[in-house]
Amino acid sequence: MPFDLAARLAERRAARLFRQRPLLDSPQGPEVVVDGQPLLAFCSNDYLGLANHPEVIRALRDGAERWGVGGGASHLVIGHSAPHHQLEEALAEFTGRPRALLFSTGYMANLAAVTALVGRGDTVLEDRLNHASLLDAGLLSGARFARYLHNDAASLAGLLAKAGGNTLVVTDGVFSMDGDLAGLPALAGECRKHGAWLMVDDAHGFGTLGAAGGGCVEHFGLGLDEVPVLVGTLGKAFGTAGAFVAGSEELIETLIQFARPYIYTTSQPPAVACATLKSLELLQGEHWRREHLQRLIDRFRSAAAEIGLALMDSPTPIQPILVGDSGRALRLAALLRERGLLVGAIRPPTVPAGTARLRVTLSATHSEAQLERLLEALAESWALLGEERGDG
Ligand SMILES: *Cc1c(COP(=O)(O)O)cnc(C)c1O
Repeated sequence: MPFDLAARLAERRAARLFRQRPLLDSPQGPEVVVDGQPLLAFCSNDYLGLANHPEVIRALRDGAERWGVGGGASHLVIGHSAPHHQLEEALAEFTGRPRALLFSTGYMANLAAVTALVGRGDTVLEDRLNHASLLDAGLLSGARFARYLHNDAASLAGLLAKAGGNTLVVTDGVFSMDGDLAGLPALAGECRKHGAWLMVDDAHGFGTLGAAGGGCVEHFGLGLDEVPVLVGTLGKAFGTAGAFVAGSEELIETLIQFARPYIYTTSQPPAVACATLKSLELLQGEHWRREHLQRLIDRFRSAAAEIGLALMDSPTPIQPILVGDSGRALRLAALLRERGLLVGAIRPPTVPAGTARLRVTLSATHSEAQLERLLEALAESWALLGEERGDG
């Protein structure tokens, strides 16, 4: 019997790995309605609260009135509108790179950049905890593909010594399921030594890290020479949708000429670019969101440590609580939900086997009181989980 999907689904259920989509009945924000239930959410990547910001909404509405809704065609045909172009110029200036290229999603930006730069005869080296889109891109490229140990420049150096052809080293800037920062200066140093290029996907760093929200390259002070390929996504701290690659004139022109995920797809709605221009202005100019977020992160970490939760080495709004077993991670999420809190349980294959976790994300729209509600519920739920296992 071909395609025994029922058996495949049953197996996933039995392994406690079955996924369900919470049905959201409200805009992004701390207070959401999910499956008809009002909940306090700590699981969105809308770190600065711009997804539902009145000025960003107005920019989208005005943009739709001026430019209509659909992109109409690919960028190379007749889909490259003035707002797309203006946003690319603003993103180039924001990142301090000569040029930037706009994409409809981060997944596509990563596929595009990696597959346009390396192919058969080349080498692509990736952190083993990279985002799925980067790993998929490496496999799709046809280049020799290997993973180095997480954030380990010595492990990377070992692979670089054996690499052939053009070599691209690829890393998340902030690791999406762990919240830690890539040690970019050390990785860039190894790349320089071996004549490799470093590509950084800073989906979670833009807007949250760096004095002006310029992400991990601003945080570490790294320019075009150290990080020739810089990717950012617009659906997280920017609160809109899409992604960009920033780099040299030649890099961007190469992507326009050769990157299939760029060429063969319709441009994003121009009004979305109008909205992103507004959110970029807020993200860069209004520092108080990052400052408030930092206070929430500090408070969360000190209080969670007191409760005895296993935190990860994260200075970012991604604050995972390591649980280990998938069933227990689901149980902890369920205990929190009974207390009116929504936090995502992240299980394999999104994270390595045995490292299921609750992925708490903080946003500048959370109040201090809301954070205290989370901490109280975590203390209670963690104690109950311990009793259920028999150590309480
Ligand atoms: C979310 C994410 C992406 C994908 O971006 P989308 O715009 O959501 O497709 C890529 N890389 C990382 C590290 C991410 O966290």
